[in-house]
Amino acid sequence: MATPDRHSDHCIGNFIGGEIVQPPADAQLLDNIEPATGQVYGKLVDSSDGDLQAAVAAAEAALPHWRGLDPEERARYLERIAALIEDNLDALAEAESRDNGKPLALARSVDIPRAAANFRFFARAITQFASESHAMGERAINYTLRAPLGIVGCISPWNLPLYLFTWKIAPALAAGNCVIAKPSEVTPKTASMLAEICQKAGLPAGVLNILHGRGSGIGSALVAHPKIAAISFTGGTATGARIAAEAAPRFKKLSLELGGKNPTLVFADCDWEKTLDGVLRAAFANQGQICLCGSRIYVESSIYKDFKAALLQRVAKLRVGDPLTQVDQGALISAAHMEKVLNAITQAKEEGGQILCGGERLQVEGRCRNGYFVAPTLIEGLPIDCRTNQQEIFGPVATIQPFADEEEALQLANGTGYGLATSVWSQNLSRCHRLAGQLDFGIVWINCWMQRDLRTPFGGMKNSGVGREGGWEALRFFTEAKNVCIDYA
Ligand code: NDP
Repeated sequence: MATPDRHSDHCIGNFIGGEIVQPPADAQLLDNIEPATGQVYGKLVDSSDGDLQAAVAAAEAALPHWRGLDPEERARYLERIAALIEDNLDALAEAESRDNGKPLALARSVDIPRAAANFRFFARAITQFASESHAMGERAINYTLRAPLGIVGCISPWNLPLYLFTWKIAPALAAGNCVIAKPSEVTPKTASMLAEICQKAGLPAGVLNILHGRGSGIGSALVAHPKIAAISFTGGTATGARIAAEAAPRFKKLSLELGGKNPTLVFADCDWEKTLDGVLRAAFANQGQICLCGSRIYVESSIYKDFKAALLQRVAKLRVGDPLTQVDQGALISAAHMEKVLNAITQAKEEGGQILCGGERLQVEGRCRNGYFVAPTLIEGLPIDCRTNQQEIFGPVATIQPFADEEEALQLANGTGYGLATSVWSQNLSRCHRLAGQLDFGIVWINCWMQRDLRTPFGGMKNSGVGREGGWEALRFFTEAKNVCIDYA
C-alpha cells in the first residue's frame, strides 16, 4: 500500500474555528497505522504551538455567545450531533475498528452508540441541572450560581476513542464551555469525523476545536496554556501524574481518570453460567484494553478447579482475527503496545506464573498477517505482590488464583495501588453488600460487569484517579460554583 502524503484525503487536519485545517507544507505529520495489518494507512498533523494559539483564539471568540445561550439552545446542538452520529453509525464503526483494531461488531454495538448517547444524555441533563439555595431563616438567603469555566481542555486515550472523547466533550459543551480537545495520536480518525459532524450540525465556529498530535507535544502544551481553565484527562497513571504536576502550580481544575488493576471475585454460590460469561468478558473485551477490565480473577477454592476448567473452555472458543470480520478479539493498538504485553507475559513466567492458555503473539493469515494479535492469556500461580499482579498490563492477559474465604478475597482485591473497578459474583446479597462497603474501588459491580448508567459517578480511588465523571458530577466539574448571599434586612 502506498504511503499517503499530506495532500491525500487520508491526511487528518485540525478542527479550528469551525474549519478543518489542512496541514501547511512545513507541518510535522505523523503516521496513522492500522493495527490489524501493521500498515500505514493515513497521516495526521502533529499540531504546533501556533495551532494551539489559533484554537485558543477561536474558543475565546466563541465563548461569549455559547455561554450566553439558554441551556435548551445548547442542548439542541448536542441533540443534532447525537442524531448525526447515529446516522453515520456504519462509517464511524468501520473507522473506529480500522483505527483501533477492535472488532467491528463491538464498535457498532458499543463505541459509536455510546458516543451518540453521551451527547444525548448531556443535552438532556443540562436542561435539568439546578443549583442549590440555603435559607438563613428570616435573615438572608444564599443561592449558588454555576457558571461555565471558560475554555477547557479534554484529553482522551486510544482504547475507546470516540466513546471517551465525547464523554468529556459533551458535558463540557453542555455546561457552556468552549473546548479544545485532543484525541490520542494513534486513533485520530473518528475525532476527525466528529469535526465534520459538528460542522453539519451547525455548531457555532470555535465552540469545539480538535487538535491532533503527540501527547508529549501538543497534549502537554494544552495542559500548560494559561487560558485553559481545566483539564479533563483519561489515560495512564504515569501520564496523569505528569499532567497533575504541570497543572497544579497553575491552579487548574483537574479530572483524572487513570489506570486500573481490577479484581474479579467469584464465590462458590455464584450463578455459574452468568458468572463465566461475565468473567470472560471482563477479562478479554476489547483485547483487555479497557481500564475497567478484570485482570485479576480470584475464585473461591471449593470451586476453583472446575471454574478454571470451564473458563479455559470458553477462552479457547474466542475467535481472534481480522477485526472487520466476525471475531471476538481483534488486534492490539500498536507494535509497541504488543511488545509491552508480550514482555509482561515473559515477566509473569519469570515470576513463576504458569501459562494456562495463550501467552504468545498470534499469526493471522491474509491481509492481517503483520497485525498485532496476542492470544487471550490466563496465568496461574502468582502471588499478589509480584509485578504481574501489581502493574496494569492493558492487554488480553489475566491472572487467576484461589482464595479461602471472604477475608482473603478482600485482602487480595484491595492489595494493589489501584482502585478503579471491581466485580463480585455471588448470590449472597448480604455478603455482596458487606464487601461493597469494604472494597476500595470507585465502582463495584455485583453480578455484572461494565453495566453503565450515565447518571452514576464514574471514576477511581488511589492511583486510578481524582474526581468523578458522569451525571451531575461532570456538570459540576465543568462549572464554577459562586455563592450569592442576600441579606433581607
Ligand atoms: P496515555 O496516558 O499514554 O495517553 C492518554 C492521552 O494523553 C493521549 O491522548 C495522549 O496522547 C495524551 N498524553 C500523553 N502524554 C501527555 C502529556 N504529557 N500531556 C498531555 N497529554 C498527554 O494513555 P493511553 O492512550 O496509553 O491509554 C491507556 C491508559 O488509559 C491505560 O492506563 C488505561 O487504564 C487508561 N484509561 C483509563 C480510563 C478511566 O476511565 N479511568 C478509561 C480508559 C483508559 P498520545 O496518545 O497522542 O501520546
